[in-house]
Amino acid sequence: IDAIREQAKSQGLLLIISGPSGVGKTTITTQVVKKLEAAFSVSMTTRPMTHEDVDGRDYHFVSEEQFRQAVASGDLLEWAEVFGNLYGTPRGAVVKQLNEGKIVILEIDVEGAILVKQNMPEAFALFVLPPSEEELLGRLRKRQRESEEIILRRFAKSKAEIERAKASSVYDCFLTNDILEHTIQEAVRVVESERMRRVIA
Ligand code: 5GP
Repeated sequence: IDAIREQAKSQGLLLIISGPSGVGKTTITTQVVKKLEAAFSVSMTTRPMTHEDVDGRDYHFVSEEQFRQAVASGDLLEWAEVFGNLYGTPRGAVVKQLNEGKIVILEIDVEGAILVKQNMPEAFALFVLPPSEEELLGRLRKRQRESEEIILRRFAKSKAEIERAKASSVYDCFLTNDILEHTIQEAVRVVESERMRRVIA
């Protein structure tokens, strides 16, 4: 079993993590990256930077023209418009790190996940759910990052995204983020067993 575990550790795995905004997805992703020594895929976006963002760490912040250029050159594995801004996954970094045997994590929306799974059906996809709708709205408000109007827009979009995720056959696993520590542990456990399963299969 140790030999299998060792082999599993050197197997590349493309891991998609999605979930509505405010669900704690970014915190979960950051912790999962650490615990699994995974590579986080830094997306390209045209969204304006917030004070929490670091260019090159959270996103590559680019102009719309630069983004269109990347699309035209085929540099993106997938891309989507979210809340009026463009987001996309740079293909080169993902392919390189997968070839190095790493777990590569894409934190992308449902639209993007559907596109990735079409091209790379071997991708493993997790969706993070809020414990309840009330909880989700509460969390969006607590962030106080945006105006009430935007918060309500995000809430409506979140509900629609959850429905879309459930209706699609893209997600291999749904995790309810009730207690953050537990959700992180569960995510790590699920990914590790998937990696093991693939070695044995
Ligand atoms: P935020 O602006 O709050 O960081 O992200 C907004 C949404 O865009 C989130 O649902 C996030 O998962 C999604 N997103 C971030 N990067 C990408 C990407 O490269 N592709 C796609 N399709 N969605 C992304």
